[in-house]
Amino acid sequence: MENLVKQVAKQHQNETVKKIQKYVYSFGQGDGKNKQLLGGKGANLCEMTQIGLNVPPGFVISTEACMSYLSGNKQLPGGVMQQVLEHMKEVERASGKKFGNAADPLLVSVRSGSALSMPGMMDTILNLGLNKDTLHGLIQQTKNERFGYDAYRRFIQLFGKVALGVPDEIFDRIFEDVKHKAGVKIDVGLNAANLKEISERFLDAVKEYTHNPFPENVYEQLEIAIKAVFNSWTGKRAVDYRREFNITPDLANGTAVNIVAMVFGNMGNDSATGVGFTRDPGTGENVMFGEYLVNAQGEDVVAGIRTPKPVHLLAEEMPDLYRQLEKLRDKLESHYKEVQDFEYTIEKGTLFCLQTRNGKMNATAIVRTSVEMVEEGLLTKEQALLRIQPAMIEQLLHPRLDGKNKEEPLAQGLPASPGAASGQCVFDADRAEILGRSGAKVILVREETKPEDIHGFFASQGILTSRGGKTSHAAVVARGMGKPCVAGAEGIKVDVKLRQATIGDKILYEGDNITIDGGTGFVYKGVIPTVDPEFSDELKTLLSWADEAAKLKVMANADTPESAAKALEFGAVGIGLCRTERMFNASDRLPIVVEMIIADTVHEREQALQQLLPIQKKDFKEILITMAPHPVTIRLLDPPIHEFLPAEEELKEELQHLHHLKETASGVSSLISSLRLLHADTLEIKNTMPFNGKGVELIEMAINKKENILKKAHELHEVNPMLGHRGVRLGLTYPEIYKMQIQAILEAAAECQNEGINVNPEIMVPQVCTAEELKKVKMYVDEITQKIEASYGIKLSFKFGTMIEVVRACMEAGELAKEADFFSFGTNDLTQATFSFSREDAENKFLPFYGEKNILHDNPFEILDKNGVGKLMKMAIEWGRESRRNLKIGICGEHGGQPDSIKFCHELGLNYVSCSGPRVPVARLAAAHANLGDAKNTAL
Ligand code: PEP
Ligand code: MG
Repeated sequence: MENLVKQVAKQHQNETVKKIQKYVYSFGQGDGKNKQLLGGKGANLCEMTQIGLNVPPGFVISTEACMSYLSGNKQLPGGVMQQVLEHMKEVERASGKKFGNAADPLLVSVRSGSALSMPGMMDTILNLGLNKDTLHGLIQQTKNERFGYDAYRRFIQLFGKVALGVPDEIFDRIFEDVKHKAGVKIDVGLNAANLKEISERFLDAVKEYTHNPFPENVYEQLEIAIKAVFNSWTGKRAVDYRREFNITPDLANGTAVNIVAMVFGNMGNDSATGVGFTRDPGTGENVMFGEYLVNAQGEDVVAGIRTPKPVHLLAEEMPDLYRQLEKLRDKLESHYKEVQDFEYTIEKGTLFCLQTRNGKMNATAIVRTSVEMVEEGLLTKEQALLRIQPAMIEQLLHPRLDGKNKEEPLAQGLPASPGAASGQCVFDADRAEILGRSGAKVILVREETKPEDIHGFFASQGILTSRGGKTSHAAVVARGMGKPCVAGAEGIKVDVKLRQATIGDKILYEGDNITIDGGTGFVYKGVIPTVDPEFSDELKTLLSWADEAAKLKVMANADTPESAAKALEFGAVGIGLCRTERMFNASDRLPIVVEMIIADTVHEREQALQQLLPIQKKDFKEILITMAPHPVTIRLLDPPIHEFLPAEEELKEELQHLHHLKETASGVSSLISSLRLLHADTLEIKNTMPFNGKGVELIEMAINKKENILKKAHELHEVNPMLGHRGVRLGLTYPEIYKMQIQAILEAAAECQNEGINVNPEIMVPQVCTAEELKKVKMYVDEITQKIEASYGIKLSFKFGTMIEVVRACMEAGELAKEADFFSFGTNDLTQATFSFSREDAENKFLPFYGEKNILHDNPFEILDKNGVGKLMKMAIEWGRESRRNLKIGICGEHGGQPDSIKFCHELGLNYVSCSGPRVPVARLAAAHANLGDAKNTAL
């Protein structure tokens, strides 16, 4: 053994006589802030060691070594193994044990860890350093044969799977077989002889599978393990995870390897292992949260093999250690100033902290902790705002079960990640992915989940498991994704092969609908209705800080008084887009709109419009009052008017029916007169007839009307309606429509002004491409203003502006700004116009393909295209403000609620963003982030 060490050392020395790059850092030495180099876990182990926590001795091999290994034919870079050997000596000194020594062996764990946390996505090997000799040393040292064999079988299995590629099922089968023969149900029931048999059968299985004996040389084990962890960076799980969460090389490049002296939580009843959060990650409450298992090793808690106990029970079981754990918790939070997710082990009464990282929390918890940590003086308001990703706020808008729900639950598990979800149950991740992709809503139901199930998580509405606790894999991953999860519902028996689950005498088949409530842990059969959540006080506080920190104002797109009121609750400071056409669709208005469209003369059209005027005025008035004193931007009619008429095919079919009906009705009339002739009235047939004499007349009227509508629909038909007779073009060719709308807006405003309500309407013209168009509409506005001012005896106060949603409008921005008080970028149409991609079709035709093949990185209808649309906006802003210095500029396309696009709008110097009501809170936080990010950059 000793010889081999020297040999390896010499070989590596020769290789690196020149300049040796430093790849290995001891925990006492590594820079705790350099996560790129040492990975999050490694950097934290260094930092924890350096702030005086009881961390087992160890060292980190850098991510640079990983990248050099992966890009260099899978050869460890020169010098790495020599540096590893030197550091192993240090660990030996610190632990007082020797690696590979049969009398007092040092065992190590070999753990992955990249700059960004990717829980469970890469590999880790425990108990490395065990072989037939050292095993006996371990048993002698601990005087615990059972413990020795337990450690040994765990090592063979992990090393076999991770480093040698032996499938898990081979080990599971042997394990279950021995358990079955021994007549035990749970792992801790196995005795030393059982575990010895398992270890020996595991060794045989490895040999049979790999055609090589299990490596006995501990340094060989170490080198293989380091390479295996490096390789796991490019494993499918890790690659999928990085793609899903957009983890690019500038965020995390390669994994570090942490080599840490093993400490054991399974050395008897004075030993334990646990995972903890410094605060409750489900609610944010300031209490220690976590679970532990006595006489167990770390992965037992996380894998959900045994159901662990809640941490507060440790206070009774090991009071002194519980106090130490509380101190550890305080120290971690006061140092990291962030909620920590930590792992610990108690070995024969001594507490070791093995790992800490920033805790992944759901939105409720992150909002509450942000506010409370500011109140406790741990964070500044800015830090509190910046620790929340804006998109996360959306989770708070997740539905929960209707309180009136009286359904009996089918089963109960642990409430592991809040929110309620319904869907068809599926029992494996592949099936979940297939069904999810086809658009079905699914709930992934598993006994327990493993990292390789990750694609099933992405495809599911929620997760249900029958084993494991609140820190099991399923719970942690679901929380991170903001998906509801019920874990450890032990009454459910999942049979993946039969594609069913049994709960007592009930059977759930694949495809059956279920509902899970991650807030209570209940599982129900069928789809249970859900209700919208309410804003918590903490969220209100946090968003009020966001408003103080932001430069951009956040408005809402809302079209009715009800949605305006909702938008106000979400914190919108005005309406940036009120699409008036949406008011035309209500059932009491559509017939009048149709009259207006089919009118043959201006006079007829004006008559219909006169009926619409009071209806629109009432709506505008209500919206203006709801939002007062905030501005309400009302867009004049935009879509092509034929959209309000039924489709031609539909009309033709209806006409056919009417003609049939007319024939039938005429037949019935003939029947009536014939019967009369035959004195049939004495038979009292008259009253039972379906049509009287007027029937035919009525049908004829209906036919005439439908034919008229059909004729109009035919006349109005356009090959390319989105590029056709719509927006301002419609307003100029049918001026009476726009005039009615302008009158409705300004009369509503005049009435409010007279009632002493400070309202601020803004009239917005869509689809403008020349200044002439705007001038013409402005003339209508001036004319109507004068009339209203005269009749109401007031001076009206309002703004007049234009949407910028066609390319020419951007080019003409300087001229348009002379006529407009404000611009509002309609980036839905502007994106369509810039790419020449139909906004109706692109997203389900070729855009997914473009995304997959990286032809386009993002869907431009979702994330604002900075290089194309963004450049047009930039020019338009510049030219617009050159003409009118105080021009107000905003955005009202869908991008106005998307955090990345909001940041861009901030950089462009927009005054506001406008988005749908439920996205307003997200936008408020994103606007704050944009400005705080700016402040940080300027400070640098
Ligand atoms: C736009 O084009 O971005 C816009 C807001 O208008 P609409 O979506 O109604 O066309
Ligand atoms: Mg538009």
